[in-house]
Amino acid sequence: MSAVLLDGKALAAKKRDELKSEVTKLKERGITPGLAVILVGNDPASTVYVRSKQKACEQIGIYSVLKELPASTSEEELLTEIDRLNNDPTIHGILVQLPLPEQISEQAVIERISPAKDVDGFHPISVGRMMIGEDTFLPCTPFGVLVMLQEANVEIAGKHVVVVGRSNIVGKPVGQLMLNEHATVTYCHSRTKYLTEITKQADILIVAVGRARFIDASHVKEGAVVIDVGINRVDGKLCGDVDFESVREVASHLTPVPGGVGPMTITMLLANTIQAAKE
Ligand code: NDP
Repeated sequence: MSAVLLDGKALAAKKRDELKSEVTKLKERGITPGLAVILVGNDPASTVYVRSKQKACEQIGIYSVLKELPASTSEEELLTEIDRLNNDPTIHGILVQLPLPEQISEQAVIERISPAKDVDGFHPISVGRMMIGEDTFLPCTPFGVLVMLQEANVEIAGKHVVVVGRSNIVGKPVGQLMLNEHATVTYCHSRTKYLTEITKQADILIVAVGRARFIDASHVKEGAVVIDVGINRVDGKLCGDVDFESVREVASHLTPVPGGVGPMTITMLLANTIQAAKE
């Protein structure tokens, strides 16, 4: 058996077309969705991510502003900038690119963004609302995973979803979204014992560990759906947390890296920004 590949690039392109027409409709009503991105310092990976977010905004007609601050910026200066954007009526979404320099508390920054403009879905109010199943901004990567599963008609209700990884931005919220969809959810992390025995029980296995090819065919039940969130660079090439070649022989569905979850993440950021503008 060779797994059906879940093509995130094609799905993202389709979704962005739909979002583009939503932006056109909003503009006809005199509303241009606006996203502000704050980049502190010049971390190369962050710079690449920020540029691709801006480019994606331009492509669908979202107004985007990039605020670049030096690595020496104090927490107070960054919070003041966020206050300014919270009060700017042309800006509907605010994103602070992480990680931040060590003199700045990430949590303080996340909590300063107005929940109404929290398009990353990291504010404790957004997280809490997601947890109790209220409408809110969903964090972009977990939201992208959910949309990919839904678009591929993968049934989630009643299935056993195993999430490997428990970070606040991927692992925890993706498991919560699966629970909201009525899955039975198990989380694994660095202190999990008998990892293989647990991952082998998964109908849907979601991997967000940050280690190249960490999950191989021996961890996967025949016919499972495998979602690889990882992005690792090995010898200059991108690869996921899943050993693609071996797992594609046992899984029923598999996301490639690159071209899987990655393109969906930015797409959901665009969707959240449009949602913020509508509200
Ligand atoms: P973190 O480093 O924050 O979290 C990694 C998680 O993996 C932790 O919960 C950790 O456990 C767990 N882990 C580490 N080692 C093991 C192990 N040996 N066995 C089981 N679990 C383990 O990473 P992120 O969640 O931020 O990101 C994960 C991956 O996803 C990265 O490759 C990142 O680049 C990628 N990513 C991709 C995105 C996309 O758009 N596609 C967006 C965001 C991230 P513990 O909590 O115990 O330490």
